[in-house]
Amino acid sequence: MNVLICRLPKGVSVVFPSSNCPNCGERIKFFDNIPVLSFIILGGRCRYCNEKISFRYPMVEMSTGIVFLFVSMKFYLQPELIKYLVFTFLLLAAAFTDMFTALDDDFECGIIPDEISLGGTVIGLAFAFFFYPGIFYSILGAVCGFLILWLPSFMYYVVTKKEGMGGGDLKLFAMIGAFLGIKPLFFILFFSSLFGVLVGLPLILVKKNRNFPIPFGPFISLATIFYIFYGDILVSIYLNKMFSGG
Ligand SMILES: [Zn+2]
Repeated sequence: MNVLICRLPKGVSVVFPSSNCPNCGERIKFFDNIPVLSFIILGGRCRYCNEKISFRYPMVEMSTGIVFLFVSMKFYLQPELIKYLVFTFLLLAAAFTDMFTALDDDFECGIIPDEISLGGTVIGLAFAFFFYPGIFYSILGAVCGFLILWLPSFMYYVVTKKEGMGGGDLKLFAMIGAFLGIKPLFFILFFSSLFGVLVGLPLILVKKNRNFPIPFGPFISLATIFYIFYGDILVSIYLNKMFSGG
């Protein structure tokens, strides 16, 4: 995943060359490329030039490991496990790429590469031949996922003449619709906006700059992972309250 996160936004091949130190260019041996462990063994420095290795690498590895562990526990021994491992992998890759490119001065704003969002949409549609929600609702989900963000971003553009949301976010929502169908889309939109406001508002107040671009991708991914684990429970609580008049 780290290879994808580093190379896709720059449009560099993800296959060649093999992993190398960004400082000295020395090829990283397989035994120095073990997730998290190698970072600790090497003391967070390159074996050859002693340059510090970015903390982003073990952070990505660790969070992927933790999410995979919980997904494996939830879907233990179910064939759907493979779908949810692929799906959460794509969500994390999109979130980290968006966040790191937003923090990187080489990029104007956060980027979610099409290889992840559109490629992920195709993978989501392919899974729908075998699993829930089925191909019909998967196609419908992808279309509605795109539109659910396109409409507010189009209206924002009409009013302010500025682009409020990146196209990557729209395509990421299409991917989510392809994997999960239409039902969860409003839930995910609501919680990603809520998470975004909770984190974004203090940032805006500190930076005193309303136009400070905050990547939305990480919040969308976070809300979607939140939905995978707690969506059913929260939706049933909500429906119960609604029908009992509470
Ligand atoms: Zn080096």
